[in-house]
Amino acid sequence: MAAPVWLPYVLTAFLAVTIGIFLRRFTHIVRLLRAGKAKEKRWDHISERVDSFIVNGLLQKKVYRSIPVGILHSFIFWAFVILGASVVEITAQGYTPGWQIPVPAAFLYGPLYLAEEIIAVLAMIGIAMALVRRYVVRPKKLMHEGFLDATIVLMFILGIVTSLLLFNAAEHARGVIPAQYVAWKPISGFLADVSIVALNPDLFWWVFWAAHVGLLFSFLAYILYSKHSHIVFAIVNAFFINMEPKGAIKPIDLEKTETFGAQRVEQFSLRQLLDGFACTECGRCTDSCPANATGKPLDPMRLIVNMKDTLLEQGPAILAGKTDGLPNMFATVHPEEGIWACTTCYACVYECPVFNEHVPKIIDMRRHLVLMEGKMPPEAAETMRKIEQNYNPWGIGWDQRGKWAEGLGIPTMAENGGDVDYLFWVGCAGSFDERNRKVVAAFARLMQRAGVKFAILGSEEKCTGDPARRIGNEYLFQTMAKANVETLNARGVKKIVTACPHCFNTLKNEYPQFGGTYEVIHHSQLLAELLEQGKLTPKKPVAAKVTHHDSCYLGRYNDIYDEPRQVLEALPQIQTVEMTKCRDKGFCCGAGGARMWMEETIGEKVNHRRLSHVTETGAEIVATACPYCLIMMDDAAKTKNVDASLARADIAELLDRAV
Ligand code: SF4
Ligand code: SF4
Repeated sequence: MAAPVWLPYVLTAFLAVTIGIFLRRFTHIVRLLRAGKAKEKRWDHISERVDSFIVNGLLQKKVYRSIPVGILHSFIFWAFVILGASVVEITAQGYTPGWQIPVPAAFLYGPLYLAEEIIAVLAMIGIAMALVRRYVVRPKKLMHEGFLDATIVLMFILGIVTSLLLFNAAEHARGVIPAQYVAWKPISGFLADVSIVALNPDLFWWVFWAAHVGLLFSFLAYILYSKHSHIVFAIVNAFFINMEPKGAIKPIDLEKTETFGAQRVEQFSLRQLLDGFACTECGRCTDSCPANATGKPLDPMRLIVNMKDTLLEQGPAILAGKTDGLPNMFATVHPEEGIWACTTCYACVYECPVFNEHVPKIIDMRRHLVLMEGKMPPEAAETMRKIEQNYNPWGIGWDQRGKWAEGLGIPTMAENGGDVDYLFWVGCAGSFDERNRKVVAAFARLMQRAGVKFAILGSEEKCTGDPARRIGNEYLFQTMAKANVETLNARGVKKIVTACPHCFNTLKNEYPQFGGTYEVIHHSQLLAELLEQGKLTPKKPVAAKVTHHDSCYLGRYNDIYDEPRQVLEALPQIQTVEMTKCRDKGFCCGAGGARMWMEETIGEKVNHRRLSHVTETGAEIVATACPYCLIMMDDAAKTKNVDASLARADIAELLDRAV
């Protein structure tokens, strides 16, 4: 059946309309993204970015953190890639029937045709799995308003791959496939005999050609209006990945900035806004959020999706510079209550398959509330006051900081002139909290026993500022950071060891922003090294079942999972057991992000939920490597009446007992 003479004209008009709709929308989105005012450096480290583009964008490494979903997604993704090659060829048939894309070597046609058919079938399987998931399994995280849109997208893809196979089948039935390629199209060869195309191959060749081309280009026109713009933008996000240390919050230039933080979407950066268009609405972030899991009004996925919707809705006004009177992000993106509920545990960012960054946005929104509106929960405001007055959140006199070390033979840097292997950064919890004073004393004893030369700063040490920065009080954080960097540099400090992951993260990853660059290690790392070198030899048995609770600031932020476990494994007769949520899937204790200093009045307490994970293992001891985690576990055990059956101990205390 010959092509009608009008076909090229109709086809050209159709392509012009659909591609035009796509480009118009694409240009509009790019203009909206460029309206983002905050600046971020995302054009550095080009070779690492290209690596990330390949591994995370093209090969979709992070999608495989959930294996069934990863397989399902990869079928659909690769269908797109392979079918992309066939689009040009099939569309061109509307102008020149039988035209083939020139490939460097003709022998490549066969494998390409086979790949196309296999991937089309795999895509159909992937879509069937996705439909079963959405309509039969119905996980809560997928039951949002994007549900219908997701179904439309799946149906589009199903239509595209089905029409491709039937188009190929019609080619078989018409006998127009060159003999050497017939065997490379086995699936459509089979369909040629058993499907509708056998009835009238010529007619159905045109029907399925029109269906395929029509669906493909209609899908192109639709996609950027749908909630599935991630098909275009997720891969871009993988290139503009964060190359700074994960635990470093972006500093504000307090001298040169007039408005702090963000209350309007356009106050975010281009990259932050891009997250909204890259989001697949998979719900993994919300699924992993401890605040959400315990009933707090915090939903990291909604934060990202609502940010995009707000940008689209308010876009014309933003581009025209007429935003006066428009509702701010606390009304359209995320309520304030949820913004305070975040523990900054980083699980959402870690789980996100498209590298969206929720935590910096939450901190920016907190910065606006704190620095522009003077708002924060009253108990947090009280903590900030204590840090301002006595340089610690406990509010105990600053001159008492070194008291725990009295009589233990521990010099200060001032006393020994800085002749040390390590400065022992004690931190506020170790200095002022009764329970954690025992931990730092145990760690100090271990260092003395192993012959490590160390000293403390005593009353010269101040809070690192971590709680202030995470609550949004950048001004107080920078005051603390600059004072500490001045002291550390004046004392000639090169190497620091600390038992607090929050201090560790801030000293290691954030102080370089203020001229303080040191070699910083966590006590778990030093203890593991001393054990390895034979400088510490545990002899007394710790005959108990022990589970280790991962600190978010040690694990997800700084990739330290093994060393605390190495310390535990070195204890004679110990029996270790892992919680289901452990290592990079660990569940927060509820204290990070300055939550330690805020009341938890909504839902179940995060530390109580974590305690349930501990008790499920039947452990007699929960081991920690963070003073905040220890306080939270202690509190939960006492409140939930397992004080007697479950001991709480830092890894240093357990090792100290054993040596
Ligand atoms: S950082 Fe943790 S608490 Fe905050 S939104 Fe992400 S998962 Fe939830
Ligand atoms: S932000 Fe990331 S993890 Fe959350 S729904 Fe979107 S793609 Fe999924």
